[in-house]
Order: sequence, then structure tokens, then C-alpha cells
Amino acid sequence: MDFALAEHQKLMLETARQIGREFGVEYWRRLDAEKRFPAEMWQAICKAGLCGVALPEAHGGSGLGMLDLALVIEALTEGGAGATLAQVFMVNPIFGGVALSRYASAEMRDAYLPKIISGEINCCMALTEPDAGSNTLEIRTFATPVGNGWRLNGRKVWITAVPDAQKMLVVARTKTVAESTRRTDGISLFFIDVERSGLTFSPIEKVGTHTLSASAVFFDDVKVDGAELIGTLHGGWPELLHVLNTERIVTTAGLVGAARLATRLAVDYARERKVFNGTPIGAYQGLQFPLARATAEIEAASTLNLKAAWKCDQGLPYGSEANMAKVVSARAATDAIERAMQTLGGMGYAKEFHVERLWRDARLFLFAPVSEEMALNFIAVHDLKMPRSY
Ligand SMILES: Cc1cc2nc3c(=O)[nH]c(=O)nc-3n(C[C@H](O)[C@H](O)[C@H](O)COP(=O)(O)OP(=O)(O)OC[C@H]3O[C@@H](n4cnc5c(N)ncnc54)[C@H](O)[C@@H]3O)c2cc1C
Repeated sequence: MDFALAEHQKLMLETARQIGREFGVEYWRRLDAEKRFPAEMWQAICKAGLCGVALPEAHGGSGLGMLDLALVIEALTEGGAGATLAQVFMVNPIFGGVALSRYASAEMRDAYLPKIISGEINCCMALTEPDAGSNTLEIRTFATPVGNGWRLNGRKVWITAVPDAQKMLVVARTKTVAESTRRTDGISLFFIDVERSGLTFSPIEKVGTHTLSASAVFFDDVKVDGAELIGTLHGGWPELLHVLNTERIVTTAGLVGAARLATRLAVDYARERKVFNGTPIGAYQGLQFPLARATAEIEAASTLNLKAAWKCDQGLPYGSEANMAKVVSARAATDAIERAMQTLGGMGYAKEFHVERLWRDARLFLFAPVSEEMALNFIAVHDLKMPRSY
């Protein structure tokens, strides 16, 4: 086992840190207030080749793996963005990049992967439905075969970055549960245009992550071409799970970066702020210990996440590590950021000091993209072999 970084990783991380600092806390504070997609930063990331780290060289990527991508996301997010930047990696190199590079036809890969990697187009992914929620197999959005394609009907909720995306990965049923031999049967993935007759969306107002919008999406007889199927007709469930597990790795990497950033802001403040007897508040163990504990936990989560990523790159099962790392990192990051706010006292509540944005944004990740409870259900059933409770 070798924890040393290779030369190419050192160089990549230096570039990522530089971009992370260039688009730092002030950039993100402005975007958050304007509720605007981080387009300039994403262009810089793509130009530096960091979107395509884990995507094939044949399409303009670096042909490395999820381990390198996780390291890059940690380095970028700790510069000033926090966990929200990781969501841009979810929508583009994961929902677009991983889904296409693994499962799409050669024509689809040639048509879209170079554009995703260069930042010419953005993607989004429509899975969650109002009446299904965490019970993904209960989705009702249905693709009915018509001619050489399908007609899509249904609705989705909480879909990230729809107005900024050109392409959408849609998860739909192509067989009802009643027609399927197993509940996991009859799920299919499609990669379609966001701008298409019958596809509409409306914004959902939310607490934080303002740089990335959330939408309810409606499919009203949307025409889907036969060539827009990604992966196996009716057999998309395991393919979707791979996409979602790589998404968990990206989520954790962003939470690691967010926790390190918040802790740094808190430590810098605590070194300077003096309230009693000229002693910096950072000298009080009451403030030190919670930050130190959260740091220990976040670094443990990072190591476990890198193990998940490494196993993924080796073609080994990695779902357990990916879920465990996500559970630990979401808790540790929200704790670290909460304690950072406490350390800053009133200033933790002021927009000018940035911690409040990280605090609003990080809260999302206790229940998304997979909730803490559903990730723990997975660990209990798959790793501990306990009876399934739901
Ligand atoms: C800002 C934002 C962005 C999002 N972006 C996207 C996106 O781009 N694409 C997309 O498809 N989805 C997206 N989502 C949806 C997200 O993945 C879901 O919100 C999440 O999976 C939880 O589903 P739910 O909200 O329906 O909660 P529910 O499934 O209704 O769960 C509610 C609560 O009950 C708990 N619970 C449910 N079942 C069990 C059980 N069996 N055991 C124990 N506890 C249980 C859950 O853990 C949770 O705490 C986004 C959500 C948000 C808020």
C-alpha cells in the first residue's frame, strides 16, 4: 500500500489548488448572492483538463480514474467553493461523463464526451420523483415504445442545474413493476436534450446551494429517439447504481474540501480574536477540541473515500466504502462547519465571513444525494447482513 502521490498527481493538485484559490471565497459569495452558476470557474477547470480527469483520452480526457478525480475535487473545493462545486462535477463528468463513457454507443460518446470535457455543454440528471423519493424503484416516469423510439411521460423533482444544462440523463421505467420479474427490472436510462417539446421545468426555492438551481421537471409526451437509450433496455438498474456510487465519491471529496475550508477560516479567526485578558479565543480547548475532532473524522472519511475510488478504478466492488465515506464525511463536514460558525461567534452569521454559506450548503448532504439513513440501511444490510427493514 502506497500513500505517496505520483508526480502527475502533484502537478494536477497544484493546478487545482491554484484554480481553487483564484475563484475563492469572495467569488463564491458574489455568485451565491446572485444565484448564478459558476460558469467562469467551470471553464477554467475544463481548460486545465480537470473535468476529464477520469474520462477516456480518446475523447479529450486524461484517462486516469476516480482516485485522481477525488483528489482534484478536494483541492478545488477547499480553495473557497466548498461542497457546492462538487455538484458541478456530479452533473458533468459523472451524470454525463461516466454514464456515456461506460454505457453509451460509440456515436453518443463521440458526439457528447468531448463537449462535456471541454465545458461546451452542461448536463443534469433526473431521477428523483415526488411520489417515490428514496424508494427509487417506485419511480413512475414511463417511456412507452413508439416507432423506433419512445414517448416519455412523468415528473421529477429537485433536479439540479436544469436551466444551465443542455443534456439530461433521465431515469425512467420501460416496464411497469407488475410486468417485471424483479423490481429492479424495467429501468432504463436516456440521454436527451433539455430543450425539447413537452419538457418543462419550474424552479424550487431552497435554503442554500444557490449557485445551482433546483427544478421540478415535467415530461408531457416527450419524444425520445431510439439512439438516445444509454446502456441496457430494461436493465439500467446496475448501470445507474454505478453512476450513483461514483457520485457518492465526488460528494465526499467536496465535503472534505468544505470542512477543511471552514476549519481554516475558523482557525485564522480564532488566532486573532481576543476577548478576555488579551488571550486569543483559539487558545480555549472548548473551541479547539470540536474542530480537532471534526478534522480527525474528515481526514478518516477522505482516506476511506480514496479507498472507494481506488477499488472503483480496479473494477472491484466499492459501494460499501463509498456509502461509509459519504455517511462519515457528511456528518463530519456539517459538524466542522457548525463549529466554525460557533468559533466566529456573531461574525459566523455574517455573510462577509463566508462560514454561513458553507453552513447552508453543507446541510444538504446529510440527506442528498443519498440520505444518511439510506446509506446506513445499505451498510446494515450489505455489510452487516442484517434483515432489511423496509
Ligand atoms: C438541493 C437538492 C438537489 C438535488 N439534486 C438532485 C438531482 O440533480 N437529481 C435527482 O434525481 N435528485 C436530486 N435531489 C434529490 C435527492 O437525491 C433526494 O432529496 C434524496 O435522495 C432524498 O429523497 P427525498 O427527498 O424524497 O426524501 P424521502 O425519501 O421522502 O425521505 C425522507 C426522510 O425519510 C428517511 N427515510 C426514507 N426511507 C427510509 C428508510 N427505509 N429507513 C430509514 N429512513 C428512511 C430519509 O432518510 C429522509 O430522512 C436533490 C435534492 C435536493 C434537496
